[in-house]
Amino acid sequence: MMQVPPIDTRPARLAPMPSLPVFFSLNGRRAIVAGNGDAALWKAEMLAAAGAHVEVYAEDAGDDLSTLGAGPPAGRVDIVARSWQADDLQGAAIAIGALEDDEAEAFAQAARAHGVPVNIVDHPQLSDFSFGTLVNRAPVTIAIGTDGTAPVLGQAIRAKIEALLHPSLGAWAEASRRLRDSVKARLPMGGARRSLWQRFAAAALAARAAPKDGEVEELFAEMPATAGLVTLVGGGPGDPELLTLKGMRALQSADVILYDRLVAPEILEFARREAKRMLVGKSGGGPQCKQDEINALMVQLAKSGKHVVRLKGGDPMVFGRAAEELNACREQGIATQIVPGITAALGAAAALQMPLTDRDCADRVQFATGHSRSGSVPDHDWATLVDPAVTTVFYMAAHKFGEIMPRLLSAGLDPDTGAVAVVAATTPRQQFVKCRAGDLPERLSECEKGQPCLIMIGGTAARAPQQGSENAGVNISVSITG
Ligand code: SAH
Repeated sequence: MMQVPPIDTRPARLAPMPSLPVFFSLNGRRAIVAGNGDAALWKAEMLAAAGAHVEVYAEDAGDDLSTLGAGPPAGRVDIVARSWQADDLQGAAIAIGALEDDEAEAFAQAARAHGVPVNIVDHPQLSDFSFGTLVNRAPVTIAIGTDGTAPVLGQAIRAKIEALLHPSLGAWAEASRRLRDSVKARLPMGGARRSLWQRFAAAALAARAAPKDGEVEELFAEMPATAGLVTLVGGGPGDPELLTLKGMRALQSADVILYDRLVAPEILEFARREAKRMLVGKSGGGPQCKQDEINALMVQLAKSGKHVVRLKGGDPMVFGRAAEELNACREQGIATQIVPGITAALGAAAALQMPLTDRDCADRVQFATGHSRSGSVPDHDWATLVDPAVTTVFYMAAHKFGEIMPRLLSAGLDPDTGAVAVVAATTPRQQFVKCRAGDLPERLSECEKGQPCLIMIGGTAARAPQQGSENAGVNISVSITG
């Protein structure tokens, strides 16, 4: 088999955005509001809440603005009882006009002439920036922007987020600010530090009250050793949504991800953007890294304190060489974790709506491989694989099925036994062929090459749905009606 070194791969580029969401620091800086009414009032309050020294230019300010001036949430609000003049904009950090028509246009122009970013309320075409719909759990702030396409959708999203985040979240974030320096001093950058903050984040999101004295410090007590960690994660059979939440969390705390080619690219999108991604394998023949090299790389990275996620197709414990990888880690004293995934057989069963057991015809399921360590057909006790009352699922067997079938027949397999081959189960390329077991070696030629394929014989295989006849026995659809 050809050997290739691990390949570094990069996350996909960001999709284009209508504008850049940023958090603009206004503490102690001059902010100009021109105009009157509720819009001016609300904007002045928001700017002051962000620490700005707000000057509101309004001929006729009204009580509400005066009240705000007397007691701003933070910063300062000075009411200037005249309309704005171009010079007022000199040196300001930001300008907001609650104005209409020519005056709005003149204000926007004056602001730009002074190099001040400007927003004209309800006039996006005159504005340099817009305000998101706000969720405030200061110091955590969330702004939702819809680029003016759907303000009500923005508000609905805000309502959801408001419901999701308890008001105490801000207090948790403040506690985190207090602890940052001591965490930095106690833990080196990398996996262990991140894992502490992840535990903190989980506690903060679950909390229904501000942290009590000592509660956050308690997280330190459970702090892991500073050594790295290897997590074997099952990526599931193909459909990215079949990744578990725990698997997703592991990807979000990974420093390095060593992944197999069977893993859907969308799954890598769940990973931390900073995580280094390395393609290390391909299943079913073809170029791949040597297992020893993968083990060595994994161990070396973990020893340098990294959280290594070894991401595999399906479940790591099913034909996933997990034992070899776990042993390599254990020999070097590296901590390991395993996050299960949905193995291909279970993905295929769901996609075909074909139970693997049935009280009438299958009281057992077994998984067998068609591929031995040396690459040849394994030395199975073939008689154990031909029981018609067992659903036997072969992994990595399609390319060798011409050799496997004669062995099954001579061990007593009835060629009329039901069989189904499923290719790329749970993905948009999914295909399956249902036929007599005896016809399977020939019928496999109908399946797309280069895609993973499972073969199921006996047990419930006869109950697999009928594929569409118009496709010469190949059904390219995930939803099964037949
Ligand atoms: N650990 C994986 C199996 C790895 S062996 C798991 O639990 O699923 C690789 C074999 O798995 C492939 O040769 C194929 O037989 C099977 N396989 C993986 N994904 C598949 C899919 N989406 N459809 C059909 N077979 C699949």
